[in-house]
Amino acid sequence: MKNHISEIKEDFSGKLETVTATEGLQIIESSFKKTVKELFGEMKNMAPDEKKEAGQLINDLKNDFEARFKAIKEKFLNSPSVTSEMDLSIASPEFVRGKIHPLIKVGKMMEDVYKEMGFSIAYGPEIENDKHNYEMLNMPYYHPARDMQDTFYLEYPNVLLRSHTSCVQVRYMLENKPPFMIISPGVVYRVDEIDPQHTPCFYQIEGLVVGEGINLANLKWAMTESAQRIFGESLKVRFSPCYYPYTEPSAAVDMSCIMCGGKGCRTCKGTGWMRVAGAGMVHPNVFEGVGYSRDTVGFAFGWGLNRLPMLYFKIAEMRKLFENELSLWEQL
Ligand SMILES: [Zn+2]
Repeated sequence: MKNHISEIKEDFSGKLETVTATEGLQIIESSFKKTVKELFGEMKNMAPDEKKEAGQLINDLKNDFEARFKAIKEKFLNSPSVTSEMDLSIASPEFVRGKIHPLIKVGKMMEDVYKEMGFSIAYGPEIENDKHNYEMLNMPYYHPARDMQDTFYLEYPNVLLRSHTSCVQVRYMLENKPPFMIISPGVVYRVDEIDPQHTPCFYQIEGLVVGEGINLANLKWAMTESAQRIFGESLKVRFSPCYYPYTEPSAAVDMSCIMCGGKGCRTCKGTGWMRVAGAGMVHPNVFEGVGYSRDTVGFAFGWGLNRLPMLYFKIAEMRKLFENELSLWEQL
């Protein structure tokens, strides 16, 4: 027993020499208490003489270490910065606050403007099928307009990445009856070569208003009003004849150039105008396809959402929006 106690004493003395914090000391103390309890347990089968001697040795050990634990605890308490494993005096690392991406920022501004005007928001899937993306928007498989909107296929010919948000119109109309006013923001994909004005993945905000008496003048007002609420009342919006398979008549929508105020510059190629959206009165074939009467009237528009932050923040190239160039974001 005497040797055993000497070993224990040596072992715990060694541990106490290296302890540097209260947490470590607590572990050693609890382990020591357990060892003492086991030692007392071993006395059960001893002869009375042995028992007396062992009891004395164990009590000495116990008292000795209790005093040591107390002394070390007090030492730690009086100099917390040295003994704590956490140094509270170290300065925290610099926290870099992120910023909202310009696309999301302008997209949100557009959403808020349309919500104020009474529109509700509808969402649809980015992975679409041929029927919703082309067929039901008056673009049967043989239609040449499909070439302008060629996309990426997950499984040819039916599973694809949507080439516009117009498929949300179809999905919404299949489940709802007019009158309604919706917008549908989201990502779309096309097989476009990357150049200053094009990327294969971009954002659109689609709008659809269907109801009795809706006409081209309402469309013109809705688009002009929403653009002016974001870019200011001096902004001009013009409509010119265009072709889309799902609207008739169709219009290309231009805004007066933000960069030069309409005087003509490099960005607007000297014209004073920027093409920002497409629009038109919904084609009767589209209404018929979703089970409405061919006499139904409504308009649809689609903003190329990438163009708007470019103009709003005066960014010259569209791909800058996707290049994670922090020095650019910090200026916005
Ligand atoms: Zn210009």
